[in-house]
Amino acid sequence: MIHFVGAGPGAKDLITVRGADLIKRAGMIVYAGSLVNPALLEDAKPECEIHDSATLTLEEVVALLRASAGKYETVVRLHTGDPSLYGAIREQMDALDALGLAYEIVPGVSSFLAAAAALKKEYTLPSVSQTLIISRLAGRTPVPEGEALEALAAHGASMALFLSAGMLPELSARLLAGGYAPETPAAIVYKASWPDERRIIGTVRDLPIMGEKLGVKSTALVLIGGFLDGPYDRSRLYDPAFSHGYRMANDPNL
Ligand code: SAH
Repeated sequence: MIHFVGAGPGAKDLITVRGADLIKRAGMIVYAGSLVNPALLEDAKPECEIHDSATLTLEEVVALLRASAGKYETVVRLHTGDPSLYGAIREQMDALDALGLAYEIVPGVSSFLAAAAALKKEYTLPSVSQTLIISRLAGRTPVPEGEALEALAAHGASMALFLSAGMLPELSARLLAGGYAPETPAAIVYKASWPDERRIIGTVRDLPIMGEKLGVKSTALVLIGGFLDGPYDRSRLYDPAFSHGYRMANDPNL
């Protein structure tokens, strides 16, 4: 069987137990070499066939999966983070469906989760934002018109922007045009969870300067929103004056 496996954000021990087990059993692994930490491949069997998909076309990847599915019990297609985000797995699955080849997906820890962990932040703070918008600037892949960054920015929600750290002047200008105040907190996290992780917190206005300071253009996420800094209300769930299904309020007047 073919397994699409989320490799996690980078750190070797942030893959799931299921994903790590499949790597150990695989007869063939195709991995996204530009983003997957090669350390993850150290636990593959010595005889495991390993291919980097960075130089391959979709057709070549599918041909490899097809040939290996006939030869090996376990075939792994290793994607960075979680495969369901900017993973281009749909087209691979459609091709496998057309060939009648079975597959499954093993989720992974996405980089936007590792970035929040690296910064020790919570995306969903009471009175700040209860919504996280995941998006990107258009690159070679266009973004549908209704999802223009200005339109998304108008919500003032927490944001995690993928694949956009090389376009910070445009990103900053469009977030401001959409309605974020210039001093809205912003962060850039490079290689979250890798040994050479780097991060910086500033404001939406200063994103281009922050990018220059950090000196990175890729493998970075841009996070936006009041969740990064500033006041918030404490949660009702753990508020002593608030009862819920599992706990009565400890107000003596109740
Ligand atoms: N499926 C992946 C995303 C693939 S798109 C996931 O769930 O994370 C590739 C983009 O993801 C990069 O350009 C960068 O924006 C982001 N990215 C991937 N790994 C990252 C990491 N460790 N730290 C910061 N950003 C990362």
